[in-house]
Amino acid sequence: MAPVSPAERVRKCKVSITAQPSANMDVSDSMGVEVVLPEEGRVAPCCPHGPTLLFEKVGKVKEGRRFYACSACRDRKDCNFFQWEEDKVSAVRLLAREAENQSKRPALSQKETCSRLRKFSSLRLDEKKFCQDCQTLLLPAEHGAHAAHRTTDVSSAQLARPSVLLRPLDNKKTHAQYLFTDRSANFLLDTLDALGFRKVLCVGTPRLQELIKLRNLEPKHEPMKSLLLDMDLRYAQFYRQDEFCHYNMFNHHFFDGEASGAVLQAFLAEGDGQKAVMVSDPPFGGLVKPLAHSFSLISQTWRKLQASDCSNTDMPMMWIFPYFFEPRILECLPSFTMLDYQVDYDNHPLYKHGKTGRKQTPVRLFTNISPRDVALPKDEGYRLCSVCQRFVSSLNKHCAKCNVCPSKDGREWKHCSTCEKCVKPSWRHCQRCGRCALPDHPCGQTPGQQGCFNCGSMEHKRSACSLKDTHRLGQRAGAKRGGGKPGPQRPLMKPKAKRKSGAARRAKQLAALSK
Ligand code: SAH
Ligand code: ZN
Ligand code: ZN
Ligand code: ZN
Ligand code: ZN
Repeated sequence: MAPVSPAERVRKCKVSITAQPSANMDVSDSMGVEVVLPEEGRVAPCCPHGPTLLFEKVGKVKEGRRFYACSACRDRKDCNFFQWEEDKVSAVRLLAREAENQSKRPALSQKETCSRLRKFSSLRLDEKKFCQDCQTLLLPAEHGAHAAHRTTDVSSAQLARPSVLLRPLDNKKTHAQYLFTDRSANFLLDTLDALGFRKVLCVGTPRLQELIKLRNLEPKHEPMKSLLLDMDLRYAQFYRQDEFCHYNMFNHHFFDGEASGAVLQAFLAEGDGQKAVMVSDPPFGGLVKPLAHSFSLISQTWRKLQASDCSNTDMPMMWIFPYFFEPRILECLPSFTMLDYQVDYDNHPLYKHGKTGRKQTPVRLFTNISPRDVALPKDEGYRLCSVCQRFVSSLNKHCAKCNVCPSKDGREWKHCSTCEKCVKPSWRHCQRCGRCALPDHPCGQTPGQQGCFNCGSMEHKRSACSLKDTHRLGQRAGAKRGGGKPGPQRPLMKPKAKRKSGAARRAKQLAALSK
């Protein structure tokens, strides 16, 4: 690489740090597109976010045509990679692609970023500045270049709380960052602590990592190690090389290559007898299948590093995700269970704890740790169901007929003897439809056509959705693939006209989960 001037570096740095790629959505559940997991011998082309994923069109028109697209970005504005599986890509195009991928690499390596942090930490308090416009810590030599920007002083306390200092990414259409409340983060850490974990692999949980470090300063807590894997490169500025890896959880890609792979391995090796656990809070639109695949790969890495014979054990994990993804997650990871604990977020007005009805946060913990070992807080009404051997929320009453605590959403469900299962409290049995449904359901129509296109709920339409334009499961932008050959537009971008069948399809699948 040609040498760059400090000013150029700052400019580049700004670009690389603020141009955060966005999250994906579960196209497999919403678009009639299914992810085909990587196989040996098949090399996926790379976009700036690492190896692309292979998608296959499924659904009514059984097209089955397969194509590669970005694993991490659902918005073409963020990454417009597209290639039919059978496309022969010319050498010229390959070179152009490689050049493009190169140009999107961060201006600084993780090592350089770390040496910046060391310099920054040694500065006098009045020299420590943060540029809000560029979202970067500034060294004295860079202050001039940011003179016209909004800058703030950075206290040591602020330096220790990057998730407060940094502006949460809030690009609604693509991906937003939702940060745990203290209640949820402390619950997670108390739980992991009580289970004896001393190392926490934080995959997309920057706030958890920072709370671990803060707790370590308090003598009453036994110290925990943590490593953050995240695609938001802004966090790299605040951590040592062994504390942060620039990582894409949709394709298990380390942007810094082997160096990062080695950091993960060193972290997961438990030679010191310290138990490790993974906690991940992926973007909710995220594709379940590739996420599950990445987590399995992390588990494999962990397993290989175990001293004792762990050939059958999996790395303990917690995956934080909305409850309506339960069937999909369990399909991919059958050893997981969903816990009743309601995770809430500081910067999400709706996903709050303590609300009632459908305003409650839909976010739960999925884990392969035995549910009876994860004690949920009594003072919040959770209690142990001795039959199910798991902690359940206060209104989740055990049903003797179903022999489970049936509630998924925190409300008290009731048993329907005709359907022979428990249903949501607002549902009534409809003779004509032969199933339970909302009293004002469109009677006589096949179930599934009326679900909410925004959140997938079967209880309302998109126009009445309380989660409007957040955590959307459905992608509706309708831009056609620009220029080029005729044929379908990039399938991730569902055209408006086709939307209904996609909605219906997903709604049908979701009908299965709103049992
Ligand atoms: N509740 C968490 C934050 C969850 S927001 C906390 O408080 O710590 C989702 C996180 O996943 C963000 O940190 C975001 O930067 C990260 N992320 C989004 N897409 C990602 C990807 N493809 N790979 C890795 N991390 C990603
Ligand atoms: Zn990409
Ligand atoms: Zn029970
Ligand atoms: Zn029942
Ligand atoms: Zn009916």
